[in-house]
Amino acid sequence: MQSITALKKDPYFKLRLILVCLGVAIAVSIIYITVVYKIAVDIGETTEFDSIRTEGTHLEYVLNTHALGEAKFRIRTILNKNYLPTPSKETTTYGFILFNSSIIFSTSNLPEDIFHQATDIMKKAMEKNDHGIFDINNDRYAWVRLTTKHGHDILFIKQARSLSLALDYITQRLIITSFITFWIAVWLALFLATWMNKKVQSKNDALTHIATHDTLTGLPNRLYLFSKCNTEIQELISKQSLYSDQKSGAILLIDLNDFKEINDAYGHDIGDMVLNGFCQRIQNTLTKEETLVRMGGDEFIIWGKNLTESSALEVSEQLRLACINALVINDISIEINPSIGISLLFQHGLDLDSLITNADLAMYQSKSNHLGPVVYNNTLGESYLYDAKLRGDVSEAILKEQIFLLYQPKIELNTGRLIGVEVLARWDHPIEGIVSPVHFIPLIEKSVHIHKFTRYILEKSIKQVSQWRENGIDTTIAVNISPYNLLDDHFGKDLEQLLQSYNVPVTSIEIELTETAMMNDISSTKRSLLKLRKLGIRIAIDDFGTGLSSLSYISQLDASVIKIDRSFIMDINTNPHNLAIVEAVISLSHRLNWEVVAEGIETQGQLKTLADLGCQHGQGYYFDRPLSVNDLTSLLQAKKNYSI
Ligand code: C2E
Ligand code: CA
Ligand code: CA
Repeated sequence: MQSITALKKDPYFKLRLILVCLGVAIAVSIIYITVVYKIAVDIGETTEFDSIRTEGTHLEYVLNTHALGEAKFRIRTILNKNYLPTPSKETTTYGFILFNSSIIFSTSNLPEDIFHQATDIMKKAMEKNDHGIFDINNDRYAWVRLTTKHGHDILFIKQARSLSLALDYITQRLIITSFITFWIAVWLALFLATWMNKKVQSKNDALTHIATHDTLTGLPNRLYLFSKCNTEIQELISKQSLYSDQKSGAILLIDLNDFKEINDAYGHDIGDMVLNGFCQRIQNTLTKEETLVRMGGDEFIIWGKNLTESSALEVSEQLRLACINALVINDISIEINPSIGISLLFQHGLDLDSLITNADLAMYQSKSNHLGPVVYNNTLGESYLYDAKLRGDVSEAILKEQIFLLYQPKIELNTGRLIGVEVLARWDHPIEGIVSPVHFIPLIEKSVHIHKFTRYILEKSIKQVSQWRENGIDTTIAVNISPYNLLDDHFGKDLEQLLQSYNVPVTSIEIELTETAMMNDISSTKRSLLKLRKLGIRIAIDDFGTGLSSLSYISQLDASVIKIDRSFIMDINTNPHNLAIVEAVISLSHRLNWEVVAEGIETQGQLKTLADLGCQHGQGYYFDRPLSVNDLTSLLQAKKNYSI
């Protein structure tokens, strides 16, 4: 999961921030010190040049106004008066040179070697500039060049004492200032970094919270689960390698039953309140060590690192108890009924993905069996893999005609006469062998192939009826269809066309539809069935008694046949409740002119009871199991009645 990184905080963020702030502060201090120093140097140099130029101009004046010999004497006197003759630390050294092409006159209180060095430097610099500054032995000198009216050049050089002093002074001050600025910068950097870090972290925390929590319930979400749970799983796995008897960690995957119906019936606002109410109730049953996560929609997960199989079942029980009373929202009482699948770390997976997948399989088992919580086991996984494999082969099965038909006779109970057959599909799978429709029909129903599949069954069945009719055998055939077929607007038309093209009358075919299937959307089912009824096709209500339909629905559907489910027939002689129900259904059917078929008659006792109750028709192993086309054809040709 890529987005999990969003949860990780940057541990070096504050340090980096401090370093950046410090860097900026130091850079600013350096710039400040450099600029101040530069300005001081500029001012100092300008002052030096002004002073040396004034002095030089004075000496130039002496040369301009006196004969050379007199001027030399006067110059020497002036300089001797202004400067001490021998250099010391306190004296300012100077040098004066008068020259044309070669030196005419020079005087200086500088040591001779330094004066020579200075002369060389100046003569070189003179080609580009008429003044400048240079250093010899850490002493700084300023010089200026002037030209007399007689065309002589003057080079006047003077130790830049005040500049050096001023710079020494400024440097000292700057060192103190920079030290103070540096510390101010450090504290500022620390303060700024802490403040910014706090701001960023609080924003980051808020964003992380949004990213890792569900907006409706405020519960942690999938992202949070993956982050927290993966860490705890790793801890548990490394702990387990040290203490091999300590095995804990479990996932409870919870899905609310019929939540879609609640949403559809009462609207999404009430649906949201139901989810919130449900979460609150569960939260109250959990300890701090267990985390409730909303995975999306009406699906939740509880992860507990200390949970074992028994404590996970205990949590499920608490959950069941918490949901025992209906939620009352806006005076509407709403039942909440969760299905729970449990998977255990170590036994059922070592990573979150496989734990969730397995808990999901267990949850589906719990949902379909209404058994309460189901702990994952390997057979669940195997049947899932088996289903997944079959699902992949479904489209080929139809294409390669691997699906074939068996026919189960329908008998008139008081005569033993064969009055029709029910078509039952089988899949001759190239690897798995014969696969029962109980396995593959639900897979086909969930795929896009259901329309193609039913058309295939209908065509094969109708073709078979047509062949029988050509051979003088006239029998009716009942075909099972899926509720999804009724959503196809062309279904009735296609069926009519098939009957026409094989020249089979509509009275030869009956459509069987399970009771539960019809109840999903009664109005659209009604519309589609009406079209079939208009064509003259009889409708049978299959597995009657197992669904939730009221009898009024069935009369609205204009059904002709009621097939009482095998579960009522099975113990009709031992269960007085079922006997009473069957009796009531039969007598009602007589009054409403419905044909009644009892499914799954296996014993003579059952047959006798049903016949005594006035049940007209029946099917079951007592008469025959579903037969191959050849066996059934022989049976039909023999026109022999079953013994009653
Ligand atoms: P169903 O329509 O209720 O079919 C009756 C089932 O009960 C058949 O199972 C049949 O073999 C079985 N049966 C009949 N008499 C007895 C008996 O005395 N004892 C016991 N124990 N069982 C008996 P089958 O063939 O496995 O079919 C299962 C279900 O698959 C069918 O239940 C039907 O709902 C569905 N199905 C079968 N063929 C098709 C089909 O072509 N299309 C659709 N949509 N569903 C089909
Ligand atoms: Ca049936
Ligand atoms: Ca049935």
